[in-house]
Amino acid sequence: MDRFPALFISHGSPMLAIEDSPARRFLASYGEALGRPRAIVVVSAHWETRSPAVSAAPRPETIHDFAGFPDALHRLGYPAAGAPDLAERIAGLMRDAGAPVTVHPTRGLDHGAWVPLMLLYPAHDVPVLQVSVQTQAGPEWHLRLGGILRPLRDEGVLIVGSGAMTHNLHAFFRGGYGPDSPAPAWVTGFADWMADAIGADRRDDLLAYRARAPHGAENHPTEEHLLPLFAALGAATPGGARSRVHASNSHGVLAMDAYAFA
Ligand code: ZN
Repeated sequence: MDRFPALFISHGSPMLAIEDSPARRFLASYGEALGRPRAIVVVSAHWETRSPAVSAAPRPETIHDFAGFPDALHRLGYPAAGAPDLAERIAGLMRDAGAPVTVHPTRGLDHGAWVPLMLLYPAHDVPVLQVSVQTQAGPEWHLRLGGILRPLRDEGVLIVGSGAMTHNLHAFFRGGYGPDSPAPAWVTGFADWMADAIGADRRDDLLAYRARAPHGAENHPTEEHLLPLFAALGAATPGGARSRVHASNSHGVLAMDAYAFA
């Protein structure tokens, strides 16, 4: 069975679904390069729970969890099948690791999942489920969470952490940036520092990014959008290849970087 890399994807604004951009073009071509997995597990920044949860809906609904965007976005759907058996398998892996876990029977797909999947696998013919993030538990727990999911990569499962390399929403909404505005130095400096740290597998630096990376806290006033990166990193094979498969910016302040961990 094919072994898929663990991915980290920056999903940016929901407009990624309908508005042309370098990140959109990248995602629209990357699914074909990856090939078709047996199932997809998305660790999305948009599902935050106190303790870990796994979605098990057989036909997950498309959740339009955003406001103030065009109606066209609300009309989009991603009618992929769910993966209830895989959800139970993940719950088992969590329990084996001593982690508390809830299997959610009806949770649908939030835009952190369906927007990138619409571009990666537009035929929506791969079953998909989600795993929640625990923002209060920080990067170290998500590294461990990714490690719990790692064996699934040997079973043809694609693990996707979906968040954002930078995510200062105050700057996004109030900073006066347009879709094609150049990225300010406090954004590129952070993304490039992260690229160096990821490339060299400097885990301690990555875990301490808020203190050690330039403008770490400024780029992530809250951590939920960076935590899926740690899940992907945790799902990586130790010592395995890692590559920054995409880098661009949207609205100046959103770094759209994507990584593949073999
Ligand atoms: Zn988001």
